[in-house]
Amino acid sequence: MSKQIFLCAINNILSGTCAEDCKFCTQSVRYHANIERYNYKDIAQIVQEAKQAKAHGALGYCLVTAGKGLDDKKVDFVARASHAIKREVKNLNLIACNGTANKDQLQYLKEHGIDSYNHNLETSERYYAEICTTHAWAERYETCENVKSTGLALCSGGIFGMGETEEDREALLTSIASLSPESTPLNFYHPNDALPIKTRNIQLHQAITIIQKARKLLGEKSLLMVAGGRELLFDTQEHLMFEAGANAMVIGNYLTTQGCDASDDKQMLATLGYEVATTCDTQ
Ligand code: SF4
Repeated sequence: MSKQIFLCAINNILSGTCAEDCKFCTQSVRYHANIERYNYKDIAQIVQEAKQAKAHGALGYCLVTAGKGLDDKKVDFVARASHAIKREVKNLNLIACNGTANKDQLQYLKEHGIDSYNHNLETSERYYAEICTTHAWAERYETCENVKSTGLALCSGGIFGMGETEEDREALLTSIASLSPESTPLNFYHPNDALPIKTRNIQLHQAITIIQKARKLLGEKSLLMVAGGRELLFDTQEHLMFEAGANAMVIGNYLTTQGCDASDDKQMLATLGYEVATTCDTQ
């Protein structure tokens, strides 16, 4: 059987309204990046978009909100959106990505249909202090631990190419592996003129090395996903990321940047001889 590739889609259900100062993030209101900003999307629209993602072959569907973390209003909204999607779309793994979260909040989401929680460590603990001053890396790690203790599947990864050193990359991968996440998104920094981090310090061969190291550290059963920045680094050479160990990718748009057309991605996979996975079971 040919290698199976798992597809995941993202829905930014609350965009661009965050007061934190993460230097890599266009959703921080501090940097005035030219992105679409909106409050909660209509739940009927979210359900419709989930149906479209499912029709394109997505197995994972990620509900993302801008902001540092969950509060009562967000928990309630994500739970209602999750409930509405689960009622109408079958066999879709729902992932919430809503920042820092405590165990009670995560338990509530789980009870309302969320299967997995995404919280990225982003970079090493050392470098995080240089690129974010409004909250600590340790809070991020703690949220990941909360996810695990709640029994939700953990999705945790990071962003490479934000000016970090080789040692930071090693430290990030080691920290991610210490959490044994079920899935790990690897993002490659997409520069934006409005952001304090102006350039990306990563090239194709370095990205391949990161994927190889991640696969080795995380084991064969985990989902290793190439997410943001794929088009910038792997354009027309996606086979390299799969050969390096990736077995999942994001289809459609990212949070604030445009991705490939989902049909083109599926065609690309077929041309390379890969199958689109139809179940999340990686055994
Ligand atoms: S907390 Fe999240 S949404 Fe807010 S600026 Fe940082 S990365 Fe962006």
